[in-house]
Amino acid sequence: MSPQVINLFYFIAALCFILGIKGMTDPKTARLGNIIAAVGMTVAVIGTLLKKEIVGYELIAIGFLVGGVIGTLISLFIPLTRLPERIALSHAFGGLAASLVGIAEYYRHGAEMGSIKIAAIGFEVLFGSITFTGSLIAFGKLSEILPSPPITYKFQNQSNILLFVITVAIWIYLIFYPGASHIFYTMVGLAFLIGILIVLPIGGADMPVVICLLNSYAGLAASATGFVLENNILIIAGALDGGSGFILAILMSRAMNRSFANVLFGAFGAVSSESKQKQEEFYAGKVKVTTPEEVAYLLENARLVVVAPGYGLAVSQAQFVLGELAKVLKSKGVDVKFAIHPVAGRMPGHMNVLLAEAGVPYEDLLELEPSNAILPEADVAIVVGANDVVNPLAREDKSSPIAGMPILDVDRARTVVIIKRSLAPGFAGVPNPLFIKENSLMLFADAKQALQEILNNIKGVVSRLH
Ligand code: NDP
Repeated sequence: MSPQVINLFYFIAALCFILGIKGMTDPKTARLGNIIAAVGMTVAVIGTLLKKEIVGYELIAIGFLVGGVIGTLISLFIPLTRLPERIALSHAFGGLAASLVGIAEYYRHGAEMGSIKIAAIGFEVLFGSITFTGSLIAFGKLSEILPSPPITYKFQNQSNILLFVITVAIWIYLIFYPGASHIFYTMVGLAFLIGILIVLPIGGADMPVVICLLNSYAGLAASATGFVLENNILIIAGALDGGSGFILAILMSRAMNRSFANVLFGAFGAVSSESKQKQEEFYAGKVKVTTPEEVAYLLENARLVVVAPGYGLAVSQAQFVLGELAKVLKSKGVDVKFAIHPVAGRMPGHMNVLLAEAGVPYEDLLELEPSNAILPEADVAIVVGANDVVNPLAREDKSSPIAGMPILDVDRARTVVIIKRSLAPGFAGVPNPLFIKENSLMLFADAKQALQEILNNIKGVVSRLH
């Protein structure tokens, strides 16, 4: 196929990618955006397969089959609650692919390649390898194969920065002396090591930012691969991926009220979490327990109810019964809004995805600021499996590991009902004084079961009334 036709394919694909990303900026258009981006990727793949440089399709078909089977199995068997781990793993594969392409190209052409090409290959291999090992460590921490809190040691930041500077210096050396193959492979080894060392000290609640950042590294590596392979769509897609990942990482840092540098070098969450015994002392005798019947009564008699969902909603898959409860309450004239914290759950947009799945209208989902504006007016705030994102310690205790993170001010509602199974802490491992506030009521149960019982109670009242 002529290069002009292939470039036309790539142009259409690039357009789809941009429209896809635009669509994904709003929950109403996100699904369509995703489909448009997928169509773009299909067009890009077809365009690439028509290139005359392809000598045979056998290996491509095998790769397609193996990748397709792995992808299908992952999407079938990894539940939504573990999506961040899956994302970390797919970044690792993306980084490894970029790195291997670069290494293969260097192996084939070595010293013959000019300075510009070796600059691109060096960059690709550097960021691809960092992404690979960094994402594996992120996966290990999220899945708790590795300890989740930061792993720190003396002069950690200094030694990491020194290592990075040495590796970049090697990359620059290679631009002038592309034939120095032992130097090239040393750079690859150091890049793998850097990936491990930069993610080890990041822990706890900062993993979302790291995942977005690794996403942007994978994009940069893919873009460099595009230069190496002279493939325009890879350059464009990599740049879009790199740029959007970086912007998302900055937005996530802001959502936690932290500087980017503090997330990367602050070893946030290194403070050891409270021991179980200390937690028990913290709450001793101060918790007020409620029942589904009482909560049903409170909800039915409220004018405004604000729901603050969190990770526990995803764990118990309670989104459908929650959606139904909201519908029933609305039918009884109660105004119901959902307060969505930007880092609630375990991935950006986690709560939006779940609630959209359950058919909750988009206009009922409020972001942090509008939620906090209406919470003092709410008769009942109902916290469903959330903990860190409603923890007043973030506002009140400057020494707390979550100090400064903006939270949903559910404690400012007239009554707060917190549905969770126990007094166990959330992701950041800190106790939550919300559970012992004057206006707080704890409903200890699995979120789905508790909501179902509340709903049954309300429905019982409805049928009695009719
Ligand atoms: P948290 O992790 O703070 O708390 C979740 C709570 O849900 C737990 O305390 C747990 O209590 C409860 N829970 C678990 N299972 C159930 C269940 N079946 N039924 C009822 N409750 C349940 O979640 P938040 O959403 O409040 O905060 C998110 C945290 O995760 C933040 O620290 C954030 O920084 C971090 N994070 C966010 C990511 C993102 O991109 N959104 C990615 C990675 C981390 P119990 O065991 O007692 O039931």
